[in-house]
Amino acid sequence: MNDQGFTPPVSQLISVVVPCYNEEPVLEETMRHLQYLAADLSLRYRFEFIFVDDGSGDRTLEILREAANRYSNIKIVSFARNFGHQIAVTAGIDATSGDAVALIDADLQDPPEVLAEMLERWQSGYEVVYGVRASREGESAFKIATARWFYRVLNRLSERPIPLDTGDFRLMDRKVVDALRSMPERHRFVRGLVAWIGYRQIALPYDRKKRAAGTSKYPLRKMLRFATDGILSFSSKPLQIATNLGVLAALLALTGIIYAIVLRVTTSIWVEGWTAMMIAVLFMGGVQLISLGIIGEYVGRIYEEAKGRPLYIVRERIGFEAPVKASSRERVDA
Ligand code: UDP
Ligand code: MG
Repeated sequence: MNDQGFTPPVSQLISVVVPCYNEEPVLEETMRHLQYLAADLSLRYRFEFIFVDDGSGDRTLEILREAANRYSNIKIVSFARNFGHQIAVTAGIDATSGDAVALIDADLQDPPEVLAEMLERWQSGYEVVYGVRASREGESAFKIATARWFYRVLNRLSERPIPLDTGDFRLMDRKVVDALRSMPERHRFVRGLVAWIGYRQIALPYDRKKRAAGTSKYPLRKMLRFATDGILSFSSKPLQIATNLGVLAALLALTGIIYAIVLRVTTSIWVEGWTAMMIAVLFMGGVQLISLGIIGEYVGRIYEEAKGRPLYIVRERIGFEAPVKASSRERVDA
């Protein structure tokens, strides 16, 4: 306070990235909540909301467009097709210019109010504040069980610890965002990449709500793909597992050979049989195919990296004043 009165500190810019894929039923409500939050915190922060339309087939882009006409803090990156959640998040991050960047789902499962608390932690010096799901409401027992199990397996396999039960809901300092942007890989498991970067990170438990409207955009097939990406990007242990399987099969075979020889030498019995042989052949075949499959997954990834295609194609950007500096990993049409 001075005699001219109170001068508020220069407010910091917070970027909020929202990936949207066919979120027509929920999007308006989500935007309302985000604008409330921006209004609540307007004394301390300015906000930019970057919505990434991940090739939606419904009215998502129209709804976003209307909102961008009304609010100057809404910006849109629209993809030429569906590139998937993690790529959408990446494109959103590439387009941010804030001092801190938050990632949040479009379906209000991650309550926007929690961001206020994240900002406080950030102010107190943490560079990453990540949400940990203390509870999950309205998700199937199957999803909760597999997610729980997956994060524990991933953590055992990964060379660096990846926090348990986290999603992408988080707040990151600009330094972390810059580090993240320097990681060019295309099979992106963003929560793992952020854990890998380091800096001071802190968990913030929150209650994950059920989807406000619409249905999940993660069918089992995408969930499996996502889980494989997580494991293969952060561990080469599956390759060791393949080796171990091979060793195990060889040992079993050796035992069988010794048994057959001893039996023949000490008695006059030959080990008989079609059954034993089929089992051995099938077992070996199985081990070999599994191992080949594991190697194949890694080789496939090397191939995709080697092609060096852009990570995503942007059809249109709306609401950005200056042209966004295109990152080396994307192409902008038009
Ligand atoms: N999403 C996306 N592209 C996709 C799938 C999902 O941008 O291909 C977005 C979706 O709009 C939502 C977030 O990713 O904002 C999380 O998806 P969802 O809520 O469907 O997943 P769940 O919470 O069921 O795991
Ligand atoms: Mg959801």
